[in-house]
Amino acid sequence: MQVKFYDVAAQYKQIKTEIDATIIEVLESAAFYDSPAVSAFEHMFAQLHQTKHCIAVNSGTAALHASLMALNITAGDEVLVPANTFFATAEAVSLTGATPVFVDCNADDYGMDPTHLEGALTARTKALIAVHMYGQAAQLDALKVFSEKHGLYLVEDCAHAHLATYKTIPVGSHGITACFSFFPGKNLGAYGEGGAILTNDDGLAHELAKIRQHGAIEKYHHERIGHNYRMESIQAAILNVKMRYMEQWTAIRQQRAVLYKELLSDCPQVILPHIADTNQHVYHLFVIRCLERNGLKGYLQEKGIETGLHYPIPLHLQKAYASLGYNRGSFPVAEQLSKEILSLPISEQITEEEVRYVSARIKAFYAGE
Ligand SMILES: *Cc1c(COP(=O)(O)O)cnc(C)c1O
Repeated sequence: MQVKFYDVAAQYKQIKTEIDATIIEVLESAAFYDSPAVSAFEHMFAQLHQTKHCIAVNSGTAALHASLMALNITAGDEVLVPANTFFATAEAVSLTGATPVFVDCNADDYGMDPTHLEGALTARTKALIAVHMYGQAAQLDALKVFSEKHGLYLVEDCAHAHLATYKTIPVGSHGITACFSFFPGKNLGAYGEGGAILTNDDGLAHELAKIRQHGAIEKYHHERIGHNYRMESIQAAILNVKMRYMEQWTAIRQQRAVLYKELLSDCPQVILPHIADTNQHVYHLFVIRCLERNGLKGYLQEKGIETGLHYPIPLHLQKAYASLGYNRGSFPVAEQLSKEILSLPISEQITEEEVRYVSARIKAFYAGE
């Protein structure tokens, strides 16, 4: 049996009629930007996460960068970022000229560990980026208390966490801004690039709309330096179709996760995801920690099962950040996780039979079969 990590082609097949029709509609309208499709996307996505404003952009990285620009984060500032996340979280900080300051993660939800924040704080710290790792909210109460105490902006990186909730409130309104990615592999994915920023702050929403379009709300009247971060109408139209499936598709991910947990509960070599009482996990990734990780990964590959590593190298050990002066040993939890984690296939396309096959092969590996 072949089990793909994420079968985007199968997903397209499922919704092909609607997708093809909506793309043709955009082509015929020739409104490739700034169109009703983009406005409809913004309206629906804000509603879905119960926030006031949505500013559609062209990637998650753009969403993070624009957010930090709107908050006037600049050279000389520091921003707290978890050591275990995708590179873009820190990269966006660097793009503003500010410096990312890494914080170790905790071994429960794999997000930023609030107990390490105090040690990373300096007089230059301006913001903190909470990443809702793998689809589960970070420890938001503790992060909020810390941010408020020290006058820091709390920015949410929701790239893994579309529709995840914290104390029943969707991610996206817990910070000053929240950044989403619609990279094809995300829980809500464009067929190309896409991103969005959510905020309840009217002033910031206005600033973000400017930054997205060369600092101009009115064409050719540039009030500040911005970027070309506009979302394409074709991607907005695709997202509008797929958004209607979001709740259904998220429920499938959650059901498959329940099945993995049931099937792997008697496998002592595997640590399953731990969900905090405060959280609804949306399982962008189903990440286990396991013994002999590399051996297991290779074995599953041989059995036709694709797996992933999120992420194999913590950010403080990336070559691009060598100049920041961190060492091996700087963030023991993130470093340990990078050696033990394994992302199993999970998506709205994976079948129960495939989950059973993957789980059985994992057990067969540890049984020495
Ligand atoms: C995917 C991702 C991003 C970047 O999103 P792009 O749309 O690829 O630019 C940022 N942060 C995290 C945690 C991500 O997983």
